Amino acid sequence: MYQESVDALILLNKLGYGKPDTGLQLNLVFNPVGYGLPPQQESLEHDYKKELAKRFGIVFNRLFTITNMPIKRFEHALIRDGELDIYMGKLMSAHYGENVESVMCKSLVSIGWQGSVYDCDFNQMLLMPLEGKTESRDEHEVEFRGRKLWDWVPADLVGREIQTGRHCFGCTAGAGSSCTGSL
Ligand code: SF4
Repeated sequence: MYQESVDALILLNKLGYGKPDTGLQLNLVFNPVGYGLPPQQESLEHDYKKELAKRFGIVFNRLFTITNMPIKRFEHALIRDGELDIYMGKLMSAHYGENVESVMCKSLVSIGWQGSVYDCDFNQMLLMPLEGKTESRDEHEVEFRGRKLWDWVPADLVGREIQTGRHCFGCTAGAGSSCTGSL
């Protein structure tokens, strides 16, 4: 898998991705292995740029660090290993209030396969739409409830309450986390 990833990056570089003056972006994403928070994004990006260039001649634009969210498969692993409370404690004690201003749900939405609207892709995975909330865990049932993308106008979204849960501490802990890395 490691070698395949390296080969893919070399191929993308050959096509111009990540190279200066091509306008083709190549961004990498770093998820921590294990149950810790990501390291500082800028210094990790610096290290990756140095090492990938030295070892393989690979160049790229940005490296985004993303916190592992305590949902779905990762949550199951935490429960299996008896680490869920410890991990949640880490996220909550690293909560940084200023990150709340820039979490991605304040400026983006996520759209389901049938047009349901969610505050973010994590809420989408948790089947927590803006409307049509239900206890059902059936994705098909959730997708058929509530207004769809084409039923909303942008003004409806302004000032409305965001659907939150304990997983949101994954976005606000430490340096913060979003689809473009730290906040
Ligand atoms: S997980 Fe919570 S804080 Fe993060 S983007 Fe989604 S709704 Fe916002």
